[in-house]
Amino acid sequence: MNVEEDATMPRKEIIDALSKYTDPFRVTKGDGFRLADFDPGDTLGLKMDKKEAAELLQSGSEWLAMEQEVLYAQDSWSLLLVFQAMDAAGKDGTIKHVMSRVNPQGCDVVSFKQPSEEEISHDFLWRYSMKVPQRGRIGIFNRSYYEEALVVRVHRHLLEAQKIPSQLVGENVWSDRLADIARFEDYLTRQGVVILKFYLNLSYEEQKKRFLERLDRPEKNWKFSASDVRERRHWNDYMRVYDEAIRATASKAAPWFVVPADNKWFTRLVVAAVIVEALEKLDLKYPKTSPEQMKDLAAARKELIAEE
Ligand code: ATP
Ligand code: MG
Repeated sequence: MNVEEDATMPRKEIIDALSKYTDPFRVTKGDGFRLADFDPGDTLGLKMDKKEAAELLQSGSEWLAMEQEVLYAQDSWSLLLVFQAMDAAGKDGTIKHVMSRVNPQGCDVVSFKQPSEEEISHDFLWRYSMKVPQRGRIGIFNRSYYEEALVVRVHRHLLEAQKIPSQLVGENVWSDRLADIARFEDYLTRQGVVILKFYLNLSYEEQKKRFLERLDRPEKNWKFSASDVRERRHWNDYMRVYDEAIRATASKAAPWFVVPADNKWFTRLVVAAVIVEALEKLDLKYPKTSPEQMKDLAAARKELIAEE
């Protein structure tokens, strides 16, 4: 991925080089998908020390920042990045590192937690659709509408709290909900919202290790909450509902990326590569100045010079 250092490389070659890091993790068809087929510890045989990985990620983030400027200027496409994962998989750190060079004015991060009274009194997509990024912007969903078929599915009382008329809550409630999500995403992509969905694939063992670290190191204590261990008891249920969610919603237009998450440096590189690749594929250009605008610019120049 050292291609990212060379801004003069033709677009097709860049995309080809990045695809080595993105193709193995992209899921565009649900049929036969199983999380269990993906190795959380995978690094594609790459071995890197901390410094090397950080340097590479930095060039990726700089590249992303360049692309983001053009995205903003062309004011037509937008980019929605959805992050889902089990606790301690590294959502926060990945977002922080990958987006480190991007102009904060063109980017919004929204963390979805338990819904408020107002939010829960609406249809389930309401609070998410309001936060879909406007044209020209990058929107990051730290958790997302997928929780409506994940945590709400694992903890059935959360569905009851949504006060849906009982006649409408049948045995297909989850498959219907996932179909609604797939259609919502189709709709958005036809509006020019490019959707990339990341599942940070952490292993059960590595989660335990990271929880213990949070308990052992005082400066990490704040990151630990007792509910994390309670949720861990439902690990197998979560894996089952994630399997179904990805199966029902993976598509070419809104692909999932099952990113190995046991090695943080590798998670970040893959996520950066996926985003850069998607933006490169859009072949974004700065808007052309029209002859009319040229005239205005010339007039403005004249006025400024006349001031002196
Ligand atoms: P971290 O723990 O890494 O700081 P987080 O995303 O887990 O980040 P928390 O504040 O720990 O953030 O937890 C948010 C909680 O909100 C999660 O337990 C999640 O399951 C829950 N949540 C998210 N969306 C919904 C929803 N739609 N309905 C009910 N609970 C939800
Ligand atoms: Mg948490």
